[in-house]
Amino acid sequence: MQALLRIDLRAIAANWHMLREQHAGGAVAAVLKADAYGLGMAPVARALRDAGCRHFFVAHPAEGIALRAALAEDGPMVAVLNGFMPGAAPPDIWPVVNNLAMARAHADRGPVLLHVDTGMARLGLDPAECDALPALDLRYVMSHLACADDPGHPMNALQRERFAAVAARFPGVPTSLANSSGIFLGPGFGSALARPGAALFGINPQPGQPNPMRPVLRLDAPILQLREVAAGTPVGYGATWTAARPSLIAIVSAGYADGYCRALSGRGIGILAGQPVPVVGRVSMDLTEFDVTGVPAALGDMLTLMGPDNPPDLLAEKAGTIGYELLTALGSRYRRIYA
Ligand SMILES: *Cc1c(COP(=O)(O)O)cnc(C)c1O
Repeated sequence: MQALLRIDLRAIAANWHMLREQHAGGAVAAVLKADAYGLGMAPVARALRDAGCRHFFVAHPAEGIALRAALAEDGPMVAVLNGFMPGAAPPDIWPVVNNLAMARAHADRGPVLLHVDTGMARLGLDPAECDALPALDLRYVMSHLACADDPGHPMNALQRERFAAVAARFPGVPTSLANSSGIFLGPGFGSALARPGAALFGINPQPGQPNPMRPVLRLDAPILQLREVAAGTPVGYGATWTAARPSLIAIVSAGYADGYCRALSGRGIGILAGQPVPVVGRVSMDLTEFDVTGVPAALGDMLTLMGPDNPPDLLAEKAGTIGYELLTALGSRYRRIYA
């Protein structure tokens, strides 16, 4: 009995279309780094290609090579956010040039994107370094927003201004700015090419507001054992939880090795027979216990670890992390079904 991860490719395509409508004045790419945020790069890439997506980003050159193979088509752009030196990937995979050394290595060679840092102090050239750039076959000039998920943050306007100034130095070169949340910051954050990742996969790009994205995944794990425990019985490693009343405990077949992170110990919420059921005690490597007292439960029943009623964003909040991390942690031991 194996846990089952269902991924709704139509919902991912619908989310991409929704982002296109939302993005002022430009095209919308798909960021499929880290195995499409844990959901499986090849099937997700093909679904988005069929939906009309023509621009893809990944983080590593090896991901770019795998993505190009999955797309089975030369047309769509495949760009590598972390960049690479010439030769690390075939010419139909474009590096994002992030520093002067990489820029010099790619001078007078194939197409590149240029990343200018406008306030995140992560990857990208300092705007002042643009003076020292060699001749490049420049296809996009891009930057990345640090605080797009917080619309009131002053960094957003600051980065927008700096990016406009940088883009003006490259007349005729298309721009790329917004990630998922940036698309919702309004027209001033539009560009020739938005780069959403998380929102495609149902993560809320506007935390604290209703989620406009469709849920795309459902993770169910079978109940391997049901235990009736008396009041006073401790459950799980460390005996961190003790039944306060006679309780029915369901032990399900998934744990932190499957990405059901240990920080969900005593905090996670599953869904069984349409009802929320709490994680009790510690999440173990391969198993997690839920208090299902009063809920109809039988051996082999599937308990929903993550789904529309207990989405990654909600569980992430309980675990003190973000939905991105829960998705990218999804393990390899599930049976995966792509609808
Ligand atoms: C990961 C990443 C994105 C996508 O961000 P989301 O918040 O998932 O939409 C876009 N641009 C860059 C540079 C990134 O690293």
